[in-house]
Amino acid sequence: MTRSTDIDFMRLALAQGRLALPGCLPNPPVGCVLVKDDAVLSQGFTQPPGQHHAEAMALSRLPDDCYGVTAFVTLEPCAFHGRTPSCAEALVESGVDRVVVAMLDPDPRNSGAGIEILRDAGITVVVGVLADEAAEEMGEYLMKPPELPAA
Ligand SMILES: [Zn+2]
Repeated sequence: MTRSTDIDFMRLALAQGRLALPGCLPNPPVGCVLVKDDAVLSQGFTQPPGQHHAEAMALSRLPDDCYGVTAFVTLEPCAFHGRTPSCAEALVESGVDRVVVAMLDPDPRNSGAGIEILRDAGITVVVGVLADEAAEEMGEYLMKPPELPAA
């Protein structure tokens, strides 16, 4: 279920994502906001390659534990260990209650796998909040799905 405030917090997350450019490249400019009781506890955005992704940065700045916390992330948290650990796994370990994601990551290593990790851990996941805005802002930086062979 999408709450009306989900949209407001996702807007904040998108604004965080904009701060990531251009240092984050070639990684996509993702933003993350951690919220509890309708108050922002911490924010983050994609750091230069090899450093924190948005989720990891926001979690590292969280003053308290994640009990009752909702994470708003503009892109599906990564399911894979690349240069940094998986953000989906970091969110699970952190103990957040709920994750709201704007759009799925078309990167074939992710594309739903990050969402699955969260759901398998019993976290409530909402996908699609401000998806169009997120696609507009991040689309050009996302890995394109492989071309389908010509029919
Ligand atoms: Zn990540």
